[in-house]
Amino acid sequence: MPAVASPRPGGPQPFARERSRDAWTAAVYAARANLEPLVFEGEPIGTELPGGQLMLTTDIENFPGFPEPLSGPELMERMKEQALRYGTRVVSELVTAVDLSAHPFTITPHYGAPVQALTLVVATGAKAKWIGLENELRLATHGGGVSACAVCDGALPAYRNKRLAVVGGGDTAMEETLYLTKFASEVVVIHRRDRFRASKVMADRVLQHPKVRVLWNTRVADVLSETHDGFEGISALRLENTATGELSTLDVGGLFVAIGHEPNTKFLKGQLDLTEHGYIKVDAWRTATNVPGVFAAGDVIDDYYRQAITSAGTGCMAALEAERWLAHHGIGESPLLETAEAMVVASAEQVPPPLASHA
Ligand code: NDP
Repeated sequence: MPAVASPRPGGPQPFARERSRDAWTAAVYAARANLEPLVFEGEPIGTELPGGQLMLTTDIENFPGFPEPLSGPELMERMKEQALRYGTRVVSELVTAVDLSAHPFTITPHYGAPVQALTLVVATGAKAKWIGLENELRLATHGGGVSACAVCDGALPAYRNKRLAVVGGGDTAMEETLYLTKFASEVVVIHRRDRFRASKVMADRVLQHPKVRVLWNTRVADVLSETHDGFEGISALRLENTATGELSTLDVGGLFVAIGHEPNTKFLKGQLDLTEHGYIKVDAWRTATNVPGVFAAGDVIDDYYRQAITSAGTGCMAALEAERWLAHHGIGESPLLETAEAMVVASAEQVPPPLASHA
């Protein structure tokens, strides 16, 4: 979650907290606007790394401007470098609590002293859920053929013309399966029950696809791997029939875990309006939350696109909206973002809402 605030010396700190591409993009824009953003980039905990989900992506082939594939960590490092170049400050800690009930907002990091901020951009992302097997998580972390994003990774050469497995029975699993049929020789959907949770239309598309096979009442008990030329990659899945307990082995060239996502919003402790799935609610085609001065960007507001480029795009939007919000309160200069509609509203209001009375 990045936050951006006033550059006044001695006053509340301008800051941005972020974990990923949305946050670094917000920081680049905020820093270039002299807002002296402060970014809380998080800490490594298991498969959660500062930099977010791209840290688990091997090759990125669909980020505009990079005709040659580059790794997720490399893209994140470049974005961070770009933000630092313009004066972004970084704290390598998670934020454990925020107080958005009074302005300036108070941001409490894991170890350091609380920081006050005039605006805040929350860009904490969403984490993919994993089955929780040791080999699954190791191979996902090292680019060994386990992924939680078919659209990000499915087109990579390593997965082409192979038998790929998808775990899950919801709409995400259906979408990932259909996407993978473009590249795989066969897609095997592994679901723990005897019926899908997904919408009928999506389930039917999967069930009728000639390249898809479904293993009902089946769970992945282990992920097996082989090492060639020093590179460890997935080779097979150990499966268990949940009805009979029978074990079997399925050779695969890739595993896509599609059992849902969890937005990283727990630390907000109810201070921002969330959707029923826990994502932060924002205005349509804007990044403003229900608390004036708090904006949100990236996967923490998006359970639909979840792409690096869309996430970076909303990071840009959030920084510009934060900058404009500050300018309306007499801090800095406003970027040229007035739409015809906003100009009418602004001229009608004349005076921006008071800073301290948004609770
Ligand atoms: P869901 O929670 O809907 O589905 C998760 C699936 O994963 C379920 O089938 C569940 O099994 C299975 N699962 C969960 N945990 C495990 C586990 N540990 N091991 C094995 N299987 C597991 O998540 P989705 O991401 O699919 O969807 C989230 C929301 O987003 C939904 O409302 C969905 O409709 C929406 N969505 C809509 C799309 C669209 O309209 N195009 C596309 C993608 C998502 P079980 O069924 O047994 O609980």
